[in-house]
Amino acid sequence: MIHLSKTTDIKELSIDQLTLWLQNRGFRPFHAGQIFKWVYLHQADAFEIMTDLAKELRLLLSARFTINRLDKKQIATSKDGTQKYLFKLADGKHVESVIIPERDHYTLCISSQVGCAQGCRFCLTGRYGLTRDLTKGEIVSQVRDITKEMNDSARLTNIVLMGMGEPLANYQNVVRALETITDSDFGLKFSNRRVTLSTAGLVSKLPDLSRDTRVNLAVSLNATENKTRDMLMPINRRFPVEELMAACRRYRLHAGRRITFEYILIQGVNDSVEDAERLGQLIRPIKSKINLIPLNEYKSCEFRRPSNSVIERFREILHQNDYTVIIRQSKGQDISAACGQLSAHPTPHRIKPDIA
Ligand code: SAH
Ligand code: SF4
Repeated sequence: MIHLSKTTDIKELSIDQLTLWLQNRGFRPFHAGQIFKWVYLHQADAFEIMTDLAKELRLLLSARFTINRLDKKQIATSKDGTQKYLFKLADGKHVESVIIPERDHYTLCISSQVGCAQGCRFCLTGRYGLTRDLTKGEIVSQVRDITKEMNDSARLTNIVLMGMGEPLANYQNVVRALETITDSDFGLKFSNRRVTLSTAGLVSKLPDLSRDTRVNLAVSLNATENKTRDMLMPINRRFPVEELMAACRRYRLHAGRRITFEYILIQGVNDSVEDAERLGQLIRPIKSKINLIPLNEYKSCEFRRPSNSVIERFREILHQNDYTVIIRQSKGQDISAACGQLSAHPTPHRIKPDIA
């Protein structure tokens, strides 16, 4: 049972929790659906406008709940059209979300934590450590608020949890937020097939995830041997490559789905012919596809991105072995909006002037 204070954001509640709250006060359960339709479908900012509810109920709701918006501090726009939102949370902490324009739709990349505790050596978010988990309402709000802001929000079809944080380290809030994001009756109506959660490999949570959600899974593999993965990703010392791959083999995939393996290419570290061949062998038994991500460099980054010919050679080896391989050309690099570049610090240039 969650503790309700006067200032509880109603988005923190699930439909079941709101139903119970209503019933405890003698109201009919179906009002919960009506209220959430106002909040998520009609983007209501106040209970007073929910005209299909009795006045008495509207007053009671206004007395106990709020419908919060995140405080938009900045929208930075890249020359490739990528937009990075910097939000200030109620306690003054900051997070970022990124809209990535694709050929015929937009993908929204959202954050699950303020910072990240995993400390991957190539990732700027990891550099700052973990400040705190995001609440369910804060995760959902990134999607709701940005949808409201966009002119053509119908083209926003895909969501990826690839922003700041390790989603599986904030398991309950992330799963509850996903419920609302994908709820086709009383939520934000995103298709499970178009939502992807990316993890650095928190193996102990993977069985729960396949039971609790129907979204896609992406695993940041990044190296095929423990020595290299230990060096790049401290989480590998807890859950080494063999355990991670065993958990992926056991992962209960929903019909027609595949696991995406993300693999950052880093010059001289994990980009050899042997690495490509080992990667192919490692994932062979798993229904999967591979996203190669040439390292995004940032100031003070100790690693380098390989040359295009090395990237192409890596792709070709996997391709010849019949894997579906995509080279993810990270967008938004000029505004530090690309993978691993999110630090929730204002971007000093290309600021859209019409946002306070
Ligand atoms: N914590 C989760 C999700 C957020 S990171 C995870 O690690 O999967 C999202 C993606 O960005 C991961 O695939 C990660 O490997 C990648 N990434 C991090 N730093 C990067 C960098 N400097 N260049 C390219 N990709 C990076
Ligand atoms: Fe955290 Fe993912 Fe960055 Fe690693 S790559 S530090 S898990 S956000």
